[in-house]
Amino acid sequence: MISSISIQSTPAAQSAISGTSRLVHRNVHQTPFLSPLHHHHSHHQHSFRRSLRVRAIDAAQPYDLEARLVMRLNQSTRLKIAIIGFGNFGQFLAKAFVRQGHIVYAHSRSNYLVAAESIGAAFVSDPHDLCELHPDVMVICTSIISTESVLRSLPLQRLRRNTLFVDVLSVKEFPKNIFLQVLPPHFDILCTHPMFGPESGKHSWQNLPFVFDKVRIGGENLRQARVENFLDIFRNEGCRMVEMSCEEHDKYAAGTQFITHTTGRILEKLQLESTPINTKGYETLLDLVENTSGDSFDLFYGLFMYNENAMEQLERLDLAFEALKKELFGHLHEILRKQLFGKSEEGDVRPVLEKLPKKASRLLPPGAPQ
Ligand code: NAP
Repeated sequence: MISSISIQSTPAAQSAISGTSRLVHRNVHQTPFLSPLHHHHSHHQHSFRRSLRVRAIDAAQPYDLEARLVMRLNQSTRLKIAIIGFGNFGQFLAKAFVRQGHIVYAHSRSNYLVAAESIGAAFVSDPHDLCELHPDVMVICTSIISTESVLRSLPLQRLRRNTLFVDVLSVKEFPKNIFLQVLPPHFDILCTHPMFGPESGKHSWQNLPFVFDKVRIGGENLRQARVENFLDIFRNEGCRMVEMSCEEHDKYAAGTQFITHTTGRILEKLQLESTPINTKGYETLLDLVENTSGDSFDLFYGLFMYNENAMEQLERLDLAFEALKKELFGHLHEILRKQLFGKSEEGDVRPVLEKLPKKASRLLPPGAPQ
């Protein structure tokens, strides 16, 4: 059945495609652990016990706990999730999806057969094959700048008519608009931003923010349940779920995320090194560099290009740096004056600019473009 389409087949792929989770295999076929003491029991007794032991349940029985759990998962919560863009972040998400018992298909421009296999996902190199597997959810996890071309290249007509499309891009208005333009009205749309990555979320996702906007979800119970089912993955991992519009997200994110990444990258250029006398503050800077340097430049560039608030933040950063330098040099100027003239002049002439006004444009020189 599977061999008729060109899926790159591995044991994990077969497992994912046949819908049998690894967890189930492991538990059903495990034989009970025997302590060394048991080996001293008479051979008779031992072989009698062995003959009674249930070693595998091939035909699941309705009263068997294992079978009941699998059935419950099958019926209500197990999703077939396709991840499009199986790079750094796609693989990171896939691990959680698999851990929670979902079936994961991976698709990417590059070949990630081995990586997918090690995670327990099936790598499907051909987008037509991928869509013909009829995933419940298509998670778009490509770089921000390639998202539009990737979405437009997918053979959408091969998908089920009510497929749920999710994006996880670090900017939100841009993919929302692209999805609304490209996806036919019968597809559901959920825009999300897990606000953590393989570094910051490597130990746990507990209390890490997950932003989502249900942009277009059909009214039928099944569609409503499916989107909640998908969001449950993040709820179950302990994320702090924040429902907000894509527009609001981008306003907040420019002031937080873009500034964080920019500062991390500036510090990285300084090539800071750990010393035997690191202060807590310095450790925080080193951590920031570590957290942001693992992300691709495409990601950073996407944050800048596709968030219309980012340019203003970059200008504010520049102005703040200039203002700080003026403040320092102002103090220096005063000391030099004292040394030259013996006393400071009447009144305080130091240019002190402690805080930037909220709007960057107010600081621009007269006549500058606003
Ligand atoms: P990224 O550099 O933003 O994206 C890498 C992914 O994009 C890879 O799967 C890559 O495919 C694909 N890609 C790049 N150019 C492509 C092209 N021209 N055609 C087709 N595919 C292309 O790095 P990332 O960290 O994995 O991020 C993926 C997405 O998740 C981004 O949208 C990012 O904003 C979002 N996100 C990332 C984080 C994070 O911490 N990393 C957190 C939240 C959200 P190949 O590898 O096959 O070349």
